[in-house]
Formats: sequence, C-alpha cells, structure tokens
Amino acid sequence: RFITLEGGEGAGKTTQIRRLTERLRARGLPVVTTREPGGSQGAEEIRALLVSGDPGRWGAVTEALLHTAARRDHLERTVWPALEAGQWVLCDRFFDSTMAYQGYGLGLGRERIAALQALALDGFRPDLTLILDLDVRSGLRRAAARAGGEDRYERMDIGFHERLRDGFRDIAAREPERCAVIDADADADTVQARVWDAVATRLPV
Ligand code: C5P
Ligand code: MG
Repeated sequence: RFITLEGGEGAGKTTQIRRLTERLRARGLPVVTTREPGGSQGAEEIRALLVSGDPGRWGAVTEALLHTAARRDHLERTVWPALEAGQWVLCDRFFDSTMAYQGYGLGLGRERIAALQALALDGFRPDLTLILDLDVRSGLRRAAARAGGEDRYERMDIGFHERLRDGFRDIAAREPERCAVIDADADADTVQARVWDAVATRLPV
C-alpha cells in the first residue's frame, strides 16, 4: 500500500505521518516512511538544490523538472522496492504537491504538470492520498512558530498560498476515490483521529 500526505505550510503532515506510522505498526503492519522532495540519496541531493538559496533561484519549469526528477529516483530506489517487499509506504508529499505548488501556485497549469508526471510515473498512483486542509493564515502561523532548522523555500506571498490550498482541494474534487480531504484545523490528536478514520474506511487495516 502506498499512502501520501499532502497539504500546505504548517498543515501538520510530518506529525500526522509519524502518528499514522505508529498506529499501523501497532497493528503489526510493516511500514516505511519517506518524504519528498527526497527519500533516496539522489533525490535528497536534488532537494538540497531546491531548498538552498532563495525561492526564485529556479524558473518555474526547471523547478517542476527538478521535483519530478527527484521523484523518479525516489520511486526507483525507495518506493517501488519497498512496495515489492510487501511494505506499506507512507510518503510526506508526492506528485500532488508538484501539481499544487508549481501547477496552481506558480501557474504552470494542470496540463504541463500532468504530462511531466505521466512521463516520470508510468501510471503509478497512490492507493490513498490524505490532504490536510487548513486555513492559509493559521498554517503560516504554525509554520513560523515551529522550531527552526527546517529546510524550506517558502514564498511569502499570501496569494500563492491561497492558490495552493484551492489547488489541493481541486485535485481532491477531481479524484475523490483516491483523495480524502482532512480538516486539519484542530489539535494533533483530533486530526489523527480523522486521519485514522479516513485510512480505516478506505483501506482494509
Ligand atoms: O514539506 P516540506 O516542508 O518538507 O517541504 C519543503 C519545502 O519545499 C517547503 O518550503 C515547501 O513549500 C517546498 N515545496 C515546493 N514545491 C513542491 C514541494 C515542496 O515549493 N512541489
Ligand atoms: Mg513537514
């Protein structure tokens, strides 16, 4: 099984993925957690190119290509081998982030991002995508408040983050079988209960 967590800044993806991992492991399921951009040696090297320097370092198309190249390496080296070995793979961000950030946020549009993903993924899809949905200002407040040291290349423009949130919701509306939107405007325990409910109703656990 391949489950992805998506959402904007400060939505709580990393916290929720950790808790979901613990819960699945408590059921005796073998779980691997990973993240994008990154998750394999080559993809982590590409991540370093993306998150170092200022957010405008790369043109939007180049940025989408870098994310997608990192994804292909991550799939080949980490995700596909783990799935073949019978593991559950939980991934912090996946191709919906490229669609939301570069497609909707930076305005490259759905078609170009979809074409790139078709090339890189060979039709591969997550079994379930959990989209943590949160008011943009609350998310940015949470992201600003969290302990420093995290590598990010955040845009300051609020309009970008609004397009991102609308983009994720649009993605979910287009693929309701794959995507569950989780209201992330609550404490971590409450959100965890919502996440678990979505997993348990959509996948046999
Ligand atoms: O999720 P995480 O905080 O690790 O993401 C790292 C950085 O990459 C964040 O600043 C996020 O906004 C950015 N990002 C992006 N485009 C993507 C994926 C992540 O701008 N497709
Ligand atoms: Mg995170």
